[in-house]
Amino acid sequence: MRKSIFFKIFAGYLVVTVTLAALILDFTYVIVSSHYERVTADNLAKIGIPLRQALTPLLVDGTAGALNTAVREYDRQLGLRITVIDTAGKVLADSEADAASLENHRDRPEVLRALTGAVGESKRYSTTLDEDMLYVALPVEIRGRTAAVLRLSMPLTHISEILKILRTRLIELTLLIILLSLVVSALFSHLLSTPIRALSKASRKVASGDFSVRVSPRTHDEIRDLTESFNLMTQRLESTFSELSGRNEELESIISSMTEGLLVIDTEGKILLFNMGAQKIIATEKILGRYYWELLRSPGLNTLIDEGSDRPASGEIELTGRHFLCIITPLASRKAKVLLLHDLTDMKQIERVKKDLVANVSHELKTPLTAIKGFTETLLEAADTKSAEYLQIIKRHTDRLISMVNELLLLSELEGTPQIIHEDVDLQELITNVIAVYDPLIRGKGLDLAASCSPVTIKGDPFKLEQLLTNLIDNALKYTEKGMISVNAEPKEGNVVITVKDTGVGIPREHLGRIFERFYVVDKSRSRSMGGTGLGLSIAKHIAALHGGRIEVVSTPYVGSTFTVILPLSG
Ligand code: ADP
Repeated sequence: MRKSIFFKIFAGYLVVTVTLAALILDFTYVIVSSHYERVTADNLAKIGIPLRQALTPLLVDGTAGALNTAVREYDRQLGLRITVIDTAGKVLADSEADAASLENHRDRPEVLRALTGAVGESKRYSTTLDEDMLYVALPVEIRGRTAAVLRLSMPLTHISEILKILRTRLIELTLLIILLSLVVSALFSHLLSTPIRALSKASRKVASGDFSVRVSPRTHDEIRDLTESFNLMTQRLESTFSELSGRNEELESIISSMTEGLLVIDTEGKILLFNMGAQKIIATEKILGRYYWELLRSPGLNTLIDEGSDRPASGEIELTGRHFLCIITPLASRKAKVLLLHDLTDMKQIERVKKDLVANVSHELKTPLTAIKGFTETLLEAADTKSAEYLQIIKRHTDRLISMVNELLLLSELEGTPQIIHEDVDLQELITNVIAVYDPLIRGKGLDLAASCSPVTIKGDPFKLEQLLTNLIDNALKYTEKGMISVNAEPKEGNVVITVKDTGVGIPREHLGRIFERFYVVDKSRSRSMGGTGLGLSIAKHIAALHGGRIEVVSTPYVGSTFTVILPLSG
């Protein structure tokens, strides 16, 4: 059962107050009553001293009748029962009973004590008088010896009556104290529980989302600190919440204004969030809570989503006949993933149109260029010196155009769907053939040539591999003025590693990342004067990739360059 704080404090106070009051009442009663009895007994003993003096002569030479008359007279004056007992216990005189009728008193505790010479006391029920009595006995000495006992007694009813009055007063006082303390404790509990109740009511409001609630501090104690902290907390919560909801709204509008499709899925693949872009791609009304694979049917998507479980992953996928770049990013909690779908269809279309145009133009240019070259050569045969000079220039430019057109056609083929032959290629033989073509040109330029190749056979297209090697050696020749060119090929860890190294002009670091792009040249005038087109390395990279390999470059300006082709032996 739930008990209120008011009830707990009040009940606590009640228990403590009642217990304390009962203890004080009992304690006070016991102390006062025992003190009262003590004082009464002492008074009886004090009264006994002159009485003993007065009775002693009657004991020495008086008659029993005189003694009896004397004790009755004193009883009348003092209101006390007086008894005189001899050492054998026999009652010699008694102020309230016939001495002869009384039994032997030797065994009475106060008498026994008085016979030893001390003052004896006892409290008990008297069968003679039929009530509780207080007895005080004094020894009576005659000629230095205890000859009798003088006993004074009074009924305890006097004391009891006084104590009864005392008890009644004490109970009245205690009840008053209890009543007062209950009123005080009720007031105190109310004061204490009111701010706590206010705080708990306000907390419930905060829990239900109302952050504007505040509690006014009424006290000047720890509860005030608590109230102020509570108000500060709700104030902070309110500002943080409004900041967060503001950010949330911003984020929502950013997400919905994105042209890319955005989906958030949980670990099971259920869609938790999506934007307009995603709705356009999916083209279904009900998206939320459904599994992504029900709505996005693409073969590569599942693998990509698996890959993106621990770290971001991206790849191209096809959905409903369109191409998308799909980026998967796991959230920090790893409990959800973000899927971003960027439509590449139009871009791919433009790229294809561009490539087709280049390929078509190149193809169309090839015939007229061959014709120009042929007729120029014919004219050269019969030309005079001056005309021959001009015709040579026309021929050189035509050759350059023809080589550019050929390279463009080759690049178009490589970037499209290349026809690749897969056969055993003897690399040693291939390198020897290319070197045989370039040896006179290299040596003619005053350069040294070193070539070494282990006997190694790889699977691939011999013409395209020859083209790759030609492009690299041709570049080494073009961009080296002194020193040497070395070509090396050897198998290494399941690959064949071909290096073409020169001591030429080198390539500055900032260009290294771009030299494999189409038409990219480092030094335009140098490249042009060398008959370069900026396509050679791009072709070489494509050929290496077609064979499942790659090209790397290390170069230092004015020291030289090393191009390394790594091709898998299995092809
Ligand atoms: P190009 O027909 O101009 O040689 P490439 O695609 O073959 O075109 O090379 C791109 C650029 O890379 C060149 O213009 C040249 O600046 C640089 N390059 C290529 N090979 C070498 C090399 N061996 N030494 C110095 N620079 C080179």
